Amino acid sequence: MQSIRNIAIIAHVDHGKTTLVDKIIHASKIFDAHQQFDDLILDNNDLERERGITIVSKNVSVRYKDVKINIIDTPGHADFGGEVERVLKMADGVLLLVDAFEGPMPQTRFVLGKAISLGLKPIVVVNKVDKENCRPDEVHEMVFDLMFNLDATEDQLDFVTLYGSSKHGWMSTDWQKPTDNIIPLLEAIIDVIPPAPSEEGTPQMQITSLDYSSFVGRIAIGRVKRGTLREGANMSLCKRDGSIKKVKIKELQVFEGLGKVKVEEVSAGEICAVTGIEGFDIGDTLADFENPEPLERISIDEPTMNMLF
Ligand code: GDP
Repeated sequence: MQSIRNIAIIAHVDHGKTTLVDKIIHASKIFDAHQQFDDLILDNNDLERERGITIVSKNVSVRYKDVKINIIDTPGHADFGGEVERVLKMADGVLLLVDAFEGPMPQTRFVLGKAISLGLKPIVVVNKVDKENCRPDEVHEMVFDLMFNLDATEDQLDFVTLYGSSKHGWMSTDWQKPTDNIIPLLEAIIDVIPPAPSEEGTPQMQITSLDYSSFVGRIAIGRVKRGTLREGANMSLCKRDGSIKKVKIKELQVFEGLGKVKVEEVSAGEICAVTGIEGFDIGDTLADFENPEPLERISIDEPTMNMLF
């Protein structure tokens, strides 16, 4: 079975998330000549561009050294608090991207706080060290203090920091020693982030977010928690109100590059998109047909910025 790392990315707007993910995809393309990508960029959603903030959470997947890395985008803003929590629950680790001049911004504090309280292992990227007047060491201290104040555990405070320039395509553990690529970051992800556990048993997947296609309708997205989902399988949909609906999986897709590819089955640990399930809501569990066991419900409350600062 393939090894998977699920990592959520947290960044304040303009700190370089799109540029970094773009460079990660290009680097992995070089390592995996079989992959085919189109030339989209991460925030290709017009609405997002208009508002300048990431609204829709999306996944990007790359392969490095036979490991599949799912990079889960998080809303860069506490206004989407409920979504933040749901999305972070798909991850085993978090990549905090911070501008080497500006330092951590208050808007990302909420998202980072959630990640810390969910026990996710952080990796910090201090980006834009090519900029004049940047202050990477100070920013590193600021991130440490922030995590300390967010009650990070000793293990979380012992985070790996990479410094670099997404724009110029390099990452290094020492900002005064540039490398010529971002491989040190991919290495850190593989080393530091725990592999997604693959639990055996009857299938369970909590629906975390939804997508829509005019061809197939609503698409349920989530991480398979236990067992294996199979194309064409009859399943139970455990609703928030405790009722159970019988449904059938039409198609399964996993994330690959900037898009999705069709697969026949998806095992625990992997994030997938499921079509054909009628009447699902976010938070529902897709479970075994005969013996459905719902997962704990997730909060859909949306805290506001005002409550937090
Ligand atoms: P996002 O909003 O976090 O996705 O940020 P973008 O990736 O769109 O980057 C915002 C701006 O910062 C763009 O103008 C980028 O070219 C620039 N940028 C990103 N990374 C770097 C970097 O490492 N160094 C410098 N100097 N600029 C960068």
